[in-house]
Amino acid sequence: MEPILYFIIPCYNEEAVLPLTFPGFRGKLTELIQKKIIHENSRILYVDDGSSDQTWEIIQKFAAQDEHIAGIRQSRNRGQQNALLAGLLEALKYADLTITMDCDGQDDIQAVNEMLAAYEKGAEIVYGVRRNRKRDNLPKRLTSRLFYRLMNWLGAESIYDHGDYRLVSARALRAFVDFKEVNLFLRGMFPLVGFQSTCVYYERKTRAAGRTHYPIKKMAALALDGITGFSVRPLRIITGLGLLVSLFGFGAIVWAVATHFLGYTVDGWTSMICMVAFLGGIQLLALGILGEYIGKIYMEAKGRPRYIISEYAGKDHLQEKEMNDNKTLC
Ligand code: UDP
Ligand code: MG
Repeated sequence: MEPILYFIIPCYNEEAVLPLTFPGFRGKLTELIQKKIIHENSRILYVDDGSSDQTWEIIQKFAAQDEHIAGIRQSRNRGQQNALLAGLLEALKYADLTITMDCDGQDDIQAVNEMLAAYEKGAEIVYGVRRNRKRDNLPKRLTSRLFYRLMNWLGAESIYDHGDYRLVSARALRAFVDFKEVNLFLRGMFPLVGFQSTCVYYERKTRAAGRTHYPIKKMAALALDGITGFSVRPLRIITGLGLLVSLFGFGAIVWAVATHFLGYTVDGWTSMICMVAFLGGIQLLALGILGEYIGKIYMEAKGRPRYIISEYAGKDHLQEKEMNDNKTLC
């Protein structure tokens, strides 16, 4: 029997984009069902990440008109990674495989066929990888290159130029459920799940409408999550740096005592200030990096829910909701 595929599409304040990209998603679903590549029960699952515009109303409308569309709504905005997680775990109840992608049409829908062909051949995870970054501006191109280089150097496994356009089988997803971390960086977590995987290359397009939710500041926060979530090497670098600075300090003491006994006591103000500034800087940097990790441990220790669904749209999901509501009433 053909596998049930769920497209998982996170949306945050995307009222301008949804009507533009919907025909592309729906058309692909129809094509795949008609070609008998996927099962008739396959769905497009929109995840509204607590939007404040008409996004949820649009999803509800899609779902009311078409049984192949479903939606879940997060109780508030929690970020794309958490929205994706909510969608993946919801889909796991029904699907044999999932494909996550942006709602803005940037991830080329045509690459789905190649992803499914790779799945047919046995791949449990298929990473969508950008062929180039021609459409990015120079700062974004440079920072992303720096990020992937840094990730590699720090020893965290990451797929170069892969975002969150990804096929994951239910089997890989069930294994992924045991990754309980709160600081999510999905593109770094899936390589750790293992199983047979491969890459499919695609041309990333420009946004259908609206603006990116990832300005440099948010991008940097995500990159920091990626680095600190997957590598403890920065902590080791601090230890190494501390050792080096201590050696240097020890040499400076020997030098200071020697010059003192040799009678060349200079006023030493400049060198003193340099040392204090240097040490102060290193110490602050070290404290900052330590703080990053402690902050992460703090968040993990709380074990707060990573997503909360407040509403459902679509036939299957509504039924599920009714069952749960009845259970709580009993
Ligand atoms: N997104 C989300 N929650 C957020 C921010 C973004 O669900 O808090 C969704 C957004 O609607 C889009 C995807 O995540 O479908 C990627 O965001 P965006 O296109 O703004 O990022 P970019 O492609 O520019 O990196
Ligand atoms: Mg986008």
